[in-house]
Amino acid sequence: MKVDAVYENATVWTGEGVTSALAVLHGRVVALGDDARQLSARSRVDLAGGFVVPGFHDAHNHMAWFGMGLDDVPLSDCRSVEEVYDAVATRAATLPAGSWVVGSGYDQNKLAGGHPDRHGLDRAAPGMLVRLKHTSGHMTVVNSAVLDQLDLAHVPVGGDVVHADGSPTGLLREQAQLLLRPLTYPTPVSRVVRGLARASEQYLAEGITSVQEAGIGGGLVGETPAELAAYQQARDTGVLRVRSTVMVAASVLHDLPDDAGFGLDLGLRTGLGDEWLRVGPMKLFADGSLVGRTCAMHDPFDGEPDNRGYFQVPEESLARTIRRAHDAGWQIATHAIGDRAITVVLDAYEAALAASPRADHRHRIEHCAVLQPAELTRLASLGLIPSPQGRFVNELGDGMRAALGDARVPWCYRLRSVLDAGCVLPASSDRPVVNGAPLLALADMVRRRTASGAPFAPEEALTPEQALRAYTYGSAYATFAERDLGTLEPGKLADFAVLSGSPLEESALDDLSVQGTAVGGELRYQA
Ligand SMILES: [Zn+2]
Repeated sequence: MKVDAVYENATVWTGEGVTSALAVLHGRVVALGDDARQLSARSRVDLAGGFVVPGFHDAHNHMAWFGMGLDDVPLSDCRSVEEVYDAVATRAATLPAGSWVVGSGYDQNKLAGGHPDRHGLDRAAPGMLVRLKHTSGHMTVVNSAVLDQLDLAHVPVGGDVVHADGSPTGLLREQAQLLLRPLTYPTPVSRVVRGLARASEQYLAEGITSVQEAGIGGGLVGETPAELAAYQQARDTGVLRVRSTVMVAASVLHDLPDDAGFGLDLGLRTGLGDEWLRVGPMKLFADGSLVGRTCAMHDPFDGEPDNRGYFQVPEESLARTIRRAHDAGWQIATHAIGDRAITVVLDAYEAALAASPRADHRHRIEHCAVLQPAELTRLASLGLIPSPQGRFVNELGDGMRAALGDARVPWCYRLRSVLDAGCVLPASSDRPVVNGAPLLALADMVRRRTASGAPFAPEEALTPEQALRAYTYGSAYATFAERDLGTLEPGKLADFAVLSGSPLEESALDDLSVQGTAVGGELRYQA
């Protein structure tokens, strides 16, 4: 047998153990180690002693939002509101009067002066339309020129327009961001395609070969009702460079005729697609953000005795949507961050599963951030998949500690204890909320330190091997793809990253780089 390629002179971590070479035929692994080396091949690739791992798989990211946001005014490095205003003014000076000035990535926890407000933005960019997205995506600040165009008399349920001294500050939280829709929605499909192209180039350079997009088609994170068309177009034109599973915003599911239940037209649901582009779970938002202090908590945020956050939709309608999607055969991924939201979502899953049991449902809780011990037990016994973001502890950890107080930190973004409880653990970034480079995340999952260096529930740290397994096998499992992805074994897709050294050594994690990335057996990125 002649294979397409043999990759050799490497250490290959297959997910189960270590071997030395890998042979590829028709995009799949056909042999490993000595068996691979002995095959004749159309090409032999010397990996120069590199360390091969299964391609990284980001189980929750926002690829279109990230890719398009590369054009925004970057605000994540700002440390005061004045720096934010300066950045806005600098960009505004380059644009025609009346243009949009769009910024993203600010975090009020990191800004002297807190959230930017409309008065500051009015001064920074007179005559312009300004909107700045919070790093969480759960809130937006606008200037007065934008505010004047919003229908403030009809603020959607599950959101609020923040006021100070009786007038709006410009801060729109959660569903109140939908007030901007008449001005900004939908994004042209061609722009979404360009965003996907830019994002996927960067992903390949970071060793990512598969992603799951956490919500298309509607809701707070959707770009356009035709978003799947953007993915198809990106795929057809070769600019979608990583395998993608798209979650569908719950708001676009609807009743279908006859007894077809609840879903999309044609009865389309989870699982349709192929190795490159697949329809994944229905994505539903229960609540908001922890650093933004809008998520639904059992007890108030630290220092804010009247604030326990809120739900994005009424609790009954959340349970009803979960029940209907479950009955119609969807996999469900529900965003729940606060401990009260997690309780309500667990109740809803438990009721749906009791009413119509389904083996291997793989329903998920996205973020699953503040997880009390009793709820951890319930999560595991229901067979649910928590989908926490390891890197949040670093970039958002100090803000999360401020919101929770020390006593609740041990419940926050738990990793080790969900594995110990028997759950399968995927790994993800929620990019662009934080830097989504997997090598950074592996270090954070192993070290559990905040940006200021403080330990953050260090008992939740993973071993390097557990972290790597989460970023490969765990994520594949979370989207029913473990038969094709997640480990390097004969029969599976030949998706892998070539690293400069072993990520299994904690001490080496800081110095690692990605040397190459292969999807379907073909090196599509080389450093
Ligand atoms: Zn997200």
